[in-house]
Amino acid sequence: MTASRDADPVRVRFAPSPTGMLHIGGLRTALYNYLLARRRGGQFVLRIEDTDRERFVEEAENDIMSALDWCGLSYDEGPGAGGAAGPYRQSERSARYRQYAEQLVDDGHAYYAFDTPAELEAMRERLRAEDRPQPKYGPRTRREMKNALTLSEEETQRLLDDGAEHVIRLHVPRDTGVKFTDEVRGAVSFSTNDLDDQVLLKSDGLPTYHLANVVDDHEMGITHVIRGEEWLSSTPKHKLLYEAFGWDMPTVAHLPLIMSPDGGKLSKRDSEEEGLPVSVRDYREQGYEPEALVNFIALLGWNPGTEKEVFSLDELVDAFSLERVARSGAQFDFDKLKWFNKQHLHRLPPQTVAARSRDALEAAGYTPSDDYLTDVAAVMQDRIAFASDLATDGAFFFEDPDEYEEEAVEQRWNDDSGELLAALADRFERAAGRFDADAVEEILRGLADERDVGAGQLIHPARLATSGRSYGPGVFSLLAVLGRECCVRRMRRAVEVLGEG
Ligand code: GLU
Repeated sequence: MTASRDADPVRVRFAPSPTGMLHIGGLRTALYNYLLARRRGGQFVLRIEDTDRERFVEEAENDIMSALDWCGLSYDEGPGAGGAAGPYRQSERSARYRQYAEQLVDDGHAYYAFDTPAELEAMRERLRAEDRPQPKYGPRTRREMKNALTLSEEETQRLLDDGAEHVIRLHVPRDTGVKFTDEVRGAVSFSTNDLDDQVLLKSDGLPTYHLANVVDDHEMGITHVIRGEEWLSSTPKHKLLYEAFGWDMPTVAHLPLIMSPDGGKLSKRDSEEEGLPVSVRDYREQGYEPEALVNFIALLGWNPGTEKEVFSLDELVDAFSLERVARSGAQFDFDKLKWFNKQHLHRLPPQTVAARSRDALEAAGYTPSDDYLTDVAAVMQDRIAFASDLATDGAFFFEDPDEYEEEAVEQRWNDDSGELLAALADRFERAAGRFDADAVEEILRGLADERDVGAGQLIHPARLATSGRSYGPGVFSLLAVLGRECCVRRMRRAVEVLGEG
């Protein structure tokens, strides 16, 4: 792409059909659209393609919006966000589609067809019997069917006036190559002989995906259509429609399939049979951070051309280009996703980690103050894989230990530990001033020096006494976060339970 082209404004859209929970493939489509819009200073539009009433799922639209919101993919125009090109739900735009379909009829690019389902089925049966496994309503068959091409003008008009059930079909030219350039796949070409005379307007008066999609992309001024590879075969139909209307076709880019961990396209079946999470909601419920999911998804089918792997959303905006989207399928790898989760957890502000651990803490019966929880998150976030781990790996921050790791007691608690720890508790209690990690360290090392023992003689028992464990965050931070009173209480209690040695 040339520099001047790069500077052209872009308008992109994410156009999901509300037929279920937002799938991670859909999230990737939304993300790449978002990234291109932000990278190029353009607009990102959300359009709900809800003309297929049979597959409509009531909660899907909300799920899509809340998934986008959770991932930080804000849209400039769309349901709830307003915009001059609205409405952004196709069900609220129905009137215009019939008008456009009729315009195509008037211009000779489309025609009325009156075939009943039984007649269509009979035609398909006949063709299959003639060894044509994929029967089409197209150049070879339309002359044998009940439509405005075979009926007289008067007959067609009479049927329309009588309110006969009908559809409007695209008049696909015969033996014609349809060529276009895909930003990801390069030059693509299809023959019209492989296309149906696509239904544009259904008998219920609603448009099919193809008509509504093209009309809306045009009316909404969309410059780039970025969508999954499964839509590639629809593009020649769209191209014919753009030509029939006399409109420019937007630039198209079809994203590679996302493959399940054991090969094959990642599908709903993977989720149902293999228990693989495939919807954004599943990942959210499993405790993944949105930043991690976004980062992971971004790299499923795109690479930055450098070794860098961990990206914030803003960094992705800076690095993204369609040129680096791969043609071949991208394999899903859960271990990698978990790795990303850790990386992002480490980088998030402690307040955010704290807030995201709240539900898990509450479920465990812990209700720490925000300030305290933020301090806990700050010392623990490098050590956990999920924010919810604060409730388990960090449980000792919220309740006194009721037992002490046996092996650690054997190894670390010796004859002097009780007396030393009791002395440390006294010093903590008496010391004036702040009880931060530096102060804690100074007191502890001061006591070790005075007693002429290694600091470890105090560090290990202090950790064991206050957390019940032999491992965890840096001991000075641990003690400082727990606070003076808590440390003194827990240390004295350990001396009581484990003995003075
Ligand atoms: N409504 C289609 C979908 O559900 C949109 C495909 C496109 O972006 O054109 O994915």
